[in-house]
This record gives sequence, structure tokens and C-alpha cells, in this order.
Amino acid sequence: MLSRRALLCLTPALALQAPSARRLTTRMSAAPPYTLYDLPVSNNGARVRMLLYYKDVKDVEIVSPMELGGLRSEDYLKVNPQGKMPALSCRDENELVPESDTIARFLGGKFDAGGAFSPPAGSIEALKADRLCRHHDVYLAPIQGCLYKASPQGQAYGAFPTRDAALDEFQKQLKLIERYADETGPYLCGAAPSQADCALFPTLIFADTMLPKFDREFTVGPNTQKWFDMLKSTDPVGQRIYDEVHSALEGWAGKGRWDTIHGAGLRDTEETIFDKIVAGDIPSEKVYEDDLCLAFKDVAPCAPVHVLLIPKHRNDLSQLRKAQPEHVGLLGHLMSKVGAVAEAAGLDDYRVVVNDGAGAGQTVFHLHVHVIGGRELAWPPG
Ligand code: 5GP
Repeated sequence: MLSRRALLCLTPALALQAPSARRLTTRMSAAPPYTLYDLPVSNNGARVRMLLYYKDVKDVEIVSPMELGGLRSEDYLKVNPQGKMPALSCRDENELVPESDTIARFLGGKFDAGGAFSPPAGSIEALKADRLCRHHDVYLAPIQGCLYKASPQGQAYGAFPTRDAALDEFQKQLKLIERYADETGPYLCGAAPSQADCALFPTLIFADTMLPKFDREFTVGPNTQKWFDMLKSTDPVGQRIYDEVHSALEGWAGKGRWDTIHGAGLRDTEETIFDKIVAGDIPSEKVYEDDLCLAFKDVAPCAPVHVLLIPKHRNDLSQLRKAQPEHVGLLGHLMSKVGAVAEAAGLDDYRVVVNDGAGAGQTVFHLHVHVIGGRELAWPPG
């Protein structure tokens, strides 16, 4: 049962919340039938909170996952095996519910049969809201980590090998919201707020706040922009959600979080000779090129064939030792293209070398892979 400790956990959040939310979170002794595990910074959690605020629901207590020991704790993983926010515990039904979409649909129906949050199945209203929610869940949510994750592991940006590629896709998908946004508004599906507003607005707050940190524009269509501005500036629930999410993101900024993220706070702006080759300012004999990398002949070859393979955007990889989990996709791409580069250079057998540090012979501090061949290569190398 929850508890004063839960209240303490949420103190920073409460400071941001309007009185009705304070009631929500402070009805500890009454033991409300639903507990939502969530924090203000979670955009997926904000999807559910926004719905609760619109409906002024009193029966859901919002507590921090820290109350169960944090997202990775055994107790929290029982509520949401993915270790993500939000999660809902339903005391009377004896159900544990992960996933914001499922929670929002359940609570939308539970606390208001009918209405904009639970239009009848098969109605045009349901179709419109579902279409926008699906756009959010399938095309935006899986790659939103590119906006704020420091050093993601594995395929953190879905199918995209780099943060830049994921950000490109994210920006493209933001613009596509316009296809489905209601022209007259003021809400995404017309006169009343719906699940679609709750799904998309918090994620767009992230996008609006974070894209400029990566020197990218938050660009959406005119109807989407009108809707976003309206929620941000005149809709009380929208304003409240904006304050919660935006303030939490700024809180991360205050703790220096962006300083560890390449492209956001951390910038690698020094121009190398290879940047000039990529830009075409210095001529080179190109051997291979794709979106992410370029291979060209070395100007001072140490063998009959000597090609350099480089990432077009260094992304802080001045040398191999700078590699972070977020570089895994780019490094994998470079390695997977060595064969194509060697083939384009007419090589059969060849050696692949990366010099890491001046003592090892590195002279250009922009990661590059030497592909060397065309003669017998001695081993060990000297
Ligand atoms: P490192 O010694 O850093 O491992 O390798 C740098 C390589 O870049 C050297 O082999 C050097 O010959 C090559 N290089 C330096 N400047 C240029 C240039 O302007 N054009 C080309 N094609 N290669 C260069």
C-alpha cells in the first residue's frame, strides 16, 4: 500500500501540478483503486496523465516507480516486464497493465463511457483517433530515443544505424501528422480532445524542446502547428502537461545530461582534412560512397593499392577509442562495407588497419580504415 514515501518521491512533480492533480496524488489514505506508476518526464506517461486531467479522474493515484524500487527492480518488473513507464496497477480487477496505449484506452472507457476518449468501435471518430495514435506508436515512439538517450545499446533507434538517420526519420514522421490533423480543430480530431491529442502532444513537446538542441528545426504542418500552439498556450490541460514535461527536460539540462550526448551538448566541430574531402573542397580519387561513408585512394600509398574508408559524419569519432554504444551502427556499417571497397579497388586479399593514437601512426584525427593490398603483406606488421 502506498504511502507517505510515494508522496515524497513525487514532491518535485507535485510542485508542477495543478490542484486537481495534487488531490490525485495525495489521496493516499483512501487507497484509490488504481495506481499509475509514472514520472513527469515520461511522454508515454503524460499520455495517460493528460487523459486523467481532461476527465478530472480522482480514482487514480500517481506514484513514482521508485516506490517499487525503480524501473529495474523485481517489484516494478512484475508490473511492467519491459521496465518502462507508465504502468497501471488495478486493485479491484487484480490486473497489472503495461503500455500507455492500453492504459489510456482502458481508463478512457472506464471513466467515461462514450465521449471523445472512447468513441464507438467502427465510428469515423474512432477511425480518426486510431489513425493518429497508430502513427505515433508505430512511426514516432520507437525512435524517439534519438531525442534524448545518451548512449543507447543495440538497435536503440529501430532500424536506423545512427542518431542522425533516426532524427531525419523522426522529422519526416512529424510532418506526416498533418495528413490526419483536423483542419478546423481546435483538437487533432475536431471539436473535443481525444486519445490522439494525448498520444501525440507529449511526444511533440519532446520534439519541440530537443530538436533545436541538435540544430534541427521542429517543423510540422500548419494545422499541426496551430493545434500544438493552442494546447501549449490556451488549453489548461495542455499547458499543465507542457509544464510537467518541459520542466522535467530542462531539469535534465540543469544536471548536464545533454553534455554527454553528441550533437546536443557535446559537439565535435574541429574540421579535419577528411571533412574537406567529404565536402569536395579537397579533391580525392573516390573508390566507393554511400549515405554514411566514403572511400578514396590514399595520397601517399604504402602499397600498390591503399584506400581510406571514412564515416562522412565523424560524430565525435576522431579515433577508435572514442567509440560509444551509439556508434555501434556506424562502426558496423564501416566494417560491413570493407569488402565492397576492396572489390571496387580490385583487391583480392588485403589488410585492414586502424591506427589509434599518434604513437601508433595516426596523423588524421577523423576515424578511418586503411584498406591495403596489391602486394605480399608481411606479418607481423612493424
Ligand atoms: P593515419 O596516419 O592517420 O592512420 O592515416 C592518414 C592517412 O591519410 C595517411 O595514410 C595519409 O597519407 C592520408 N592523407 C593525408 N592527407 C590526405 C589527403 O589530403 N588526401 C588523401 N587522399 N589522403 C591523405
